[in-house]
Amino acid sequence: MRSSANWRKALLLVALLHACSAVDEHSANFVLFGTIVSIHAFDTTEPAFSDAMSTLETRFSALGVDWYPWADGELKRINAAIAAARPIDVSPPLASLIKAAARFEALSGDRFNAGLGHVSALWGFHALPAGVTSVPDADAISAILATRPGASDLGWQHLTMRPGAASTLLDLGGIAKGALLLEARRLLLQHGIDNAIVNLGGDLLVIGQVHGRHARIGIQSPHDDYPIAGLQIASGEAVFTSGNYERYVEIDGTRYPHILDPRTGQPVRHTASVTVVHTDPVLADAAATALLVGGGADFDALVDAFELEFALLIDASGDTRLTPGMRQRLHWTATGNSQ
Ligand code: ADP
Ligand code: MG
Repeated sequence: MRSSANWRKALLLVALLHACSAVDEHSANFVLFGTIVSIHAFDTTEPAFSDAMSTLETRFSALGVDWYPWADGELKRINAAIAAARPIDVSPPLASLIKAAARFEALSGDRFNAGLGHVSALWGFHALPAGVTSVPDADAISAILATRPGASDLGWQHLTMRPGAASTLLDLGGIAKGALLLEARRLLLQHGIDNAIVNLGGDLLVIGQVHGRHARIGIQSPHDDYPIAGLQIASGEAVFTSGNYERYVEIDGTRYPHILDPRTGQPVRHTASVTVVHTDPVLADAAATALLVGGGADFDALVDAFELEFALLIDASGDTRLTPGMRQRLHWTATGNSQ
């Protein structure tokens, strides 16, 4: 087995801090569990930027443990309580993330499901040290799905969570990056940085402007590294792309992408990529995942359910679906589709 889904495996946090050419422009990159976190800030000073970066790194590495179901942090303890049918008190940030996940499960008609950790583990998507060498047993998947795992049936009394289906293993990977971007914005603004782009492995949030102008970004082709289209991103907008081409396990020469269809427990192959632009990064993250699962067939219904203005879907055969708003904003490159 070969896995590209090992981005969270190593607890590696390397900071490569360097000032850019312009005096008031600074950038930093660090690797958090295999995902490159990259921050570009404008109109700030070096001391303010370094200070913000060290706060951000500390916070991100703590959240990376607490929000990852297979690390020794809060989400692991919550999952243990669910398995043991015990109620548990949950911290405010994680409680609001789990409640948001339940909302997205309902909105997406279960295309999005944050309770599939046990199915994901059968596929080896969180890079078990031993890995997996064969496709998981269909009966094992059905047995998990039969009890309807998910965040939706968890009960809440303020911050106390009552467990639902014992087969639920919460895995917030479908919205965690959105929530991390919100946290990054809060910390940057706290440090007086109000013009910046925060990029988490290709999913990004724009705060303010770039030298007085809107940021311009490229949407990567699902098939190679070239941008297929570009668009301007206003202050406060996030851009999320879910793809089935970047993270997958390979078993006997076949690639199995890491996003699962909650109705079957099978990796999604019918969609190549989805890009969503929205001012709420958590919603954008969830919607991109849900649209990928729904594919072209559910595109209109999910766009309506999530009330999306800007979404683009490219299916496995290269056909595209766009909302009218996205059609207006996109500039196709020569390598992209010119519709
Ligand atoms: P990416 O941006 O890397 O393509 P996504 O935001 O789509 O990732 O989230 C994928 C992650 O979400 C998986 O690694 C897993 O943790 C979790 N996941 C997989 N399938 C689903 C699903 N149908 N609904 C919600 N979360 C999912
Ligand atoms: Mg997502």
